[in-house]
Amino acid sequence: MKSILKKVIGQTGRKQLRAVQASARAAVYGLGNAVECPICGNTYSQFLPFNRPNALCHGCHSLERHRLVYLYLKNKTTFFNGQSLEVLHFAPEKCLHDVIRKHAAIHYQTADLMTTYIDAIGVMPDHVMSVTDIQFADNTFDVVLCNHVFELVPDDAQGMREIFRVLKPNGYAIIQAAVNNNAEKTIETSSLSAEERKKIAGAHQHVRRYGRDYRNRLTAAGFEVEVSQYVQQLDAKHYGLMPDEDIYVCWKRPKN
Ligand SMILES: [Zn+2]
Repeated sequence: MKSILKKVIGQTGRKQLRAVQASARAAVYGLGNAVECPICGNTYSQFLPFNRPNALCHGCHSLERHRLVYLYLKNKTTFFNGQSLEVLHFAPEKCLHDVIRKHAAIHYQTADLMTTYIDAIGVMPDHVMSVTDIQFADNTFDVVLCNHVFELVPDDAQGMREIFRVLKPNGYAIIQAAVNNNAEKTIETSSLSAEERKKIAGAHQHVRRYGRDYRNRLTAAGFEVEVSQYVQQLDAKHYGLMPDEDIYVCWKRPKN
């Protein structure tokens, strides 16, 4: 049936058909209120598929991990309470960027090294810099956000130390990564073939797959690490969250 269809409608026709299918799917998924995106506030019967079912918000394009970080900041910290904050956000996710930018009390700066990916992520960073060489003085920021970056950074220990350095005493960073809780140790994949990297680390550009020692790596950079299982207090189904995703809250405690 598919091959007959291909022959009949041709390439342009197939493109148009896919567009019609996508808009029909969006219209169907868009109805209802079984799920809610806490970032943009929209409700749907389910989120759109994104390599898996029920993942991507129709409105702000958030995924599970963005919604969890947002809910944590909103409900478990004073981030959005209107206090004056110096915030640095590495590799800013557009959905989080757009909502943080609206808060006038937050002096929000973004940074990214991957300038070639700007079109894809939709945010022009304020600063083009590497997390391993942050162009700010010690003790500058109240909060640093850096999610799903260190899988791509060869010297992650240096990057973690840099975030620690630019945080103010009693400041904190949220440093999320894809952590395989079934593995004791991180697997470095940079010397493997692209195919093996994809298999082990989930993407060919990733240089490692973190295991349960991820927390120790953050601790080694100087942080006091709180691994929050806040997701267990939330309605994961309603907000479209991964029910086993931890949040790594990394505190810079003042020296005695
Ligand atoms: Zn949304």
